[in-house]
Amino acid sequence: MIIKKFTIGMGDRFAHQGNAQLQAVIKAQDAGLDIYPTWNKSFREHSIVKSHPQDLRTEADDAVAALGWDKVYYVDADHIGLKTVDSFISGSNFYTLDVADFVGETPNAQDVDDFVTANQKYTGSLQIPGIASTFEVTEADLRQVAGKFLVAIKGAKDIYNHIVATKGDEHFITEVSVDETDLPQTPIDLLLILSMIAAEGIPAQTIAPKFTGRFNKGVDYVGDLVQFEKEFDQDLYVIKFAIKEFGLPQTLKLSIHSGSDKFSIYPIIKNLISKHDAGLHVKTAGTTWLEEIIGLAEAGGEALTIAKEVYAGAYSRFDELTGPYATVIDVDKSALPTPEEVNGWDSDKYVNTLRHVQSHADYNQNFRQLIHVGFKVAAEMTDRYTGALKKNEAIIAKNVTENIWERHILQIFGS
Ligand SMILES: [Zn+2]
Repeated sequence: MIIKKFTIGMGDRFAHQGNAQLQAVIKAQDAGLDIYPTWNKSFREHSIVKSHPQDLRTEADDAVAALGWDKVYYVDADHIGLKTVDSFISGSNFYTLDVADFVGETPNAQDVDDFVTANQKYTGSLQIPGIASTFEVTEADLRQVAGKFLVAIKGAKDIYNHIVATKGDEHFITEVSVDETDLPQTPIDLLLILSMIAAEGIPAQTIAPKFTGRFNKGVDYVGDLVQFEKEFDQDLYVIKFAIKEFGLPQTLKLSIHSGSDKFSIYPIIKNLISKHDAGLHVKTAGTTWLEEIIGLAEAGGEALTIAKEVYAGAYSRFDELTGPYATVIDVDKSALPTPEEVNGWDSDKYVNTLRHVQSHADYNQNFRQLIHVGFKVAAEMTDRYTGALKKNEAIIAKNVTENIWERHILQIFGS
């Protein structure tokens, strides 16, 4: 299976917004942007909202049928490992092989030596076509990258083999993600990781590195824009080089995880994918859930009450809910309104505090991040929450579609 050049990954915690999400992609197609939808959900999300991987397939199929989408679409088993992959086999046609568990595990010495031998030719002054400066690569660099990623990439191959054994190798897209590591990867790290991926025979079509800077959930990029631009440009040259050099799939492209809401780097990304005529996958996960809360708040009445209760619940369970996301959120507790304050808010005040419009005086990124991790509170409301989603479908759908289309697709892929 060949991946399309431009794909947008969309997560939907409660599986009610498939149509509204697809509508955003249809708007893109209508505007002449050749974007394709990918629905993604990780094992962790499924466990928290108690859904099954097959539910995501059903959601995607239903949306496609309802809106008459007759082009390709993908269902991504997001961040799966060997232990979690089985329930995703039948419903997915895109697998994000997660190797975070193995990163840093000590590889056996022979494997490291083999890797060093195979990549010796990249030591010294390395010139990547297109990049003006040269990179100085030492054998110690090779050993360091091998030490950190070799076990992980071999682990990815085990997952890949496991999928192929039941599904055959023709029917899915393979992504390798190394984004959930402690340190960002340099363009040379990326090159060496791609060398490992190719040596293992993993036909990766998307690779998710950890880029420089912070990619916090649901909020803007935090980091050095000049450095990001330089490395993203170099990463694109590295991808081109690696395709030729290692015989990786021609369609190999970068995948940006936690890619929603990174407004300050979208213009950079847009320019560079155009400069390189490169493909791109942007994965957004939690944004749609925030638009549900925005829609509920906007609707007012009982729906606004639910939005307020979600906040109060998240506020009172701060440590429990933010704990698992500690590395991908930065919430300044002192900048959070109290639930009592929020309970006094009208629809506009709630919506403007949460909606990601940075120029609005009421926008509060701390509030937004806390709601982002608060979906467990809504999940525990069970039918009361999903009932409200159904009852307020139109107003929520409008927010979901607008967010993906106007604030994401148009900013990243728009001409
Ligand atoms: Zn990721």
